[in-house]
Amino acid sequence: MTAFPPGSTIGILGGGQLGRMLALAAGRLGLKSHIYAPEADSPAFDVAASHTIAAYEDEAQLAKFAKWVDVATYEFENIPVSTVEFLSARIPVRPGAKALACAQDRMNEKSLARELGAMTADFSAIDSFADLENVLDKGFAVPSVLKTRRLGYDGKGQAKILARADAEAAWTAMRDQPSILESFVNFRAEVSVVAARALDGTFKAFDVTENEHRNHILHRSVAPAPLNADVAAEAVAIAEKIAEKLDYVGVFAIEFFIVPDNGHDRLFVNEMAPRVHNSGHWTMDGALTSQFEQHIRAVAGWPLGSTGLNAPGAEMINLIGDDILTWEKIAAEPGAFFHHYGKKDARPGRKMGHVNRLLPKKPA
Ligand code: AMP
Repeated sequence: MTAFPPGSTIGILGGGQLGRMLALAAGRLGLKSHIYAPEADSPAFDVAASHTIAAYEDEAQLAKFAKWVDVATYEFENIPVSTVEFLSARIPVRPGAKALACAQDRMNEKSLARELGAMTADFSAIDSFADLENVLDKGFAVPSVLKTRRLGYDGKGQAKILARADAEAAWTAMRDQPSILESFVNFRAEVSVVAARALDGTFKAFDVTENEHRNHILHRSVAPAPLNADVAAEAVAIAEKIAEKLDYVGVFAIEFFIVPDNGHDRLFVNEMAPRVHNSGHWTMDGALTSQFEQHIRAVAGWPLGSTGLNAPGAEMINLIGDDILTWEKIAAEPGAFFHHYGKKDARPGRKMGHVNRLLPKKPA
């Protein structure tokens, strides 16, 4: 396995907070970062050695980027697959185009999970209002959720169908995009596995994390999730199978619903993120290796770091919009680890920073 040594340059497609935290982690290992993003005010630019402001489709700029960097990765799953293919013909790109293509489409993700023996909500592809009527006529149960297959995040591109009469409005909300109808899952909790696969196939997962959302945006993550050990081990095993199947290199997250069934928890795969993930931010202070360092290690062909905990538990609270105005209070709090993303405008719903805290006891 050839590793890119300290002094090498990692190219990162995407310049948001994830790119910023990846660049910071790379710097600690003596690696340089070059960020490629279309937005002139990308938060990652401030902490990287160099950057390019260009569209993901700009082949002349991509060709230059490929000359400047030794290996490339991405912090954002809506990078066009064609961009990753263009770069892959010139330099290693990790994770590869196969993983990205799978994770960009909810049908592929759910089909793969089923193929590997994991449970998911029932689902059906919907490409027109006629498809939706047809599937509902054939008995697809409501309540259900109609989602665009691609480009959805934080609950965007989703519409609930509580009764048959909601179908037309739900389809209109999809704006004619290829969609997926999912049965509504009565979950008691949402959890995620954040894990990494190295170039040589070594796999390491962080402790399973429980995630609480508010207004469709992650509010709080806590690890280890209070789950029976067999359920947590099964979630990790599913994540490992998915990573192997996709020849994955790097950090990724699998989100699950926890569904109570006769006193036992059952796991339903919801979706996959082919990148570092908000529900893994607690690892920056709560684990021996952060998810960002772990991703850089994998991408650079280094051995993975230890995923052990620094305390019995850890929590992460997102600072959304105006929450960031409390920064002085958080900065003064003993034991609070404050992370600011360097974004100028605290728009409502925008992720501006987060705070991590170590927990003296395992979460119950
Ligand atoms: P997603 O974009 O698929 O992660 O969905 C965003 C949120 O909507 C999830 O975190 C759940 O809280 C909720 N949700 C999505 N799909 C379902 C489903 N099939 N059943 C129940 N709730 C869902």
